[in-house]
Amino acid sequence: MSKIPYKIYLEENEMPDKWYNVRADMKKKPAPILNPGTLKPVTLEELSGIFCEELAKQELDDTTAYFEIPEEIRNFYKMYRPSPLVRAYCLEKKLDTPAHIYYKFEGNNTSGSHKLNSAIAQAYYAKKQGLKGVTTETGAGQWGTALSMACSYFDLDCQVYMVKVSYEQKPFRREVMRTYGATVTPSPSMNTEVGRRINAEFPGTTGSLGCAISEAVEAAVSQEGYRYVLGSVLAQVLLHQSVIGLEAKAALDKYGIKADMVIGCAGGGSNLGGLISPFVGEMLRGEASYDIIAVEPASCPSLTRGVYAYDFCDTGKVCPLAKMYTLGSGFIPSANHAGGLRYHGMSSIVSELYDQKLISARSVEQTSVFEAARTFARVEGILPAPESSHAIRVAIDEALKCKETGEEKNIVFGLTGTGYFDMVAYQKFNDGEMSDYIPTDEDLKKSIDKLPRV
Ligand SMILES: *Cc1c(COP(=O)(O)O)cnc(C)c1O
Repeated sequence: MSKIPYKIYLEENEMPDKWYNVRADMKKKPAPILNPGTLKPVTLEELSGIFCEELAKQELDDTTAYFEIPEEIRNFYKMYRPSPLVRAYCLEKKLDTPAHIYYKFEGNNTSGSHKLNSAIAQAYYAKKQGLKGVTTETGAGQWGTALSMACSYFDLDCQVYMVKVSYEQKPFRREVMRTYGATVTPSPSMNTEVGRRINAEFPGTTGSLGCAISEAVEAAVSQEGYRYVLGSVLAQVLLHQSVIGLEAKAALDKYGIKADMVIGCAGGGSNLGGLISPFVGEMLRGEASYDIIAVEPASCPSLTRGVYAYDFCDTGKVCPLAKMYTLGSGFIPSANHAGGLRYHGMSSIVSELYDQKLISARSVEQTSVFEAARTFARVEGILPAPESSHAIRVAIDEALKCKETGEEKNIVFGLTGTGYFDMVAYQKFNDGEMSDYIPTDEDLKKSIDKLPRV
């Protein structure tokens, strides 16, 4: 077999022209999302009041396996895709491991992460429906950045509610969004009813994703010609992100490589879900088996310490209820540095796959994550996002296990983005001032006890 290049690129004509909906191959489907008022499965009509109609259809469709990627979206993808699958030769050498390590790099666009894959799709459907604009939340800022890029491309208004702690800590992220034409408001704000309520209940709060979601939804439903868009968690987002897994699979197949392990970081579950979908599809159809690991921060451990139950997707309790592994929508995680992973719940698809034991999960502590990030940056060159570095941590741990056992495993992980806007975190780490906050069982019990009774 020919030597595997450092970067495996696909040709433009080898790029996927369809997204893959893994739910179609699941015998036991994720539980339906419920209307928070009636506790009945949400109808297309109800959902279309919040989301663009085409996206609402994708959300509710758990039987269609493939969705054609519209040509306008494929043309946009071509500006920054296919993304490379990189053989981490230098990391392997550094670790002195017999394992073969590959990473799918999604940071090669201005937003710096995989989020653009879904942002462009959601903006496209909003434009096609003739809307004026969209509202959304952003945590660390990657989703807001991606969406502002997508909206400027399609000439749509973009209103972003940014978690207050990030708004203050990441002024440059904010400016990128504004440069692309978005309006950015720190959340909780005084613009919305739910923002005012949360500010009154938790004075001085630095916000959370769940809270910003509530504000953005309220802003969407109270303005004519606006809909709400969400950057993770939802089935439609995992569908769009399947482009990551489909490309990764095609690149591996091109060189006859069979992955043994597939590893991804998990916040709301979209990059992980997208990366693993084609692999899980093969497992579900009985064609292959893989060891799949979701990696989450020890400070916000929804899969490893949460419960599998119906919960609100947002703190303000205006979104549909989803059955998922959750810490409770009232859980406000400590201000750790992987903002994109600070979400109380987990995609209902990823949750159901985890519950069926098709995938496993691991939680890792912040300092060890940054140690992995540093090792990676020094040998592979790319400065990884803190979120992505959770996957690097476990990939390194697994490669070191291979060193003990002598196994030549093929380890594939998702490198979701770059960390240029996370230098405050790197500074804390470099100064030896990083802490590893882990919630106690009592902390978790407080919010889990408040789960809705469904
Ligand atoms: C948002 C984000 C994540 C986590 O979100 P998921 O929906 O779980 O994928 C991971 N990495 C980066 C770089 C992000 O921006």
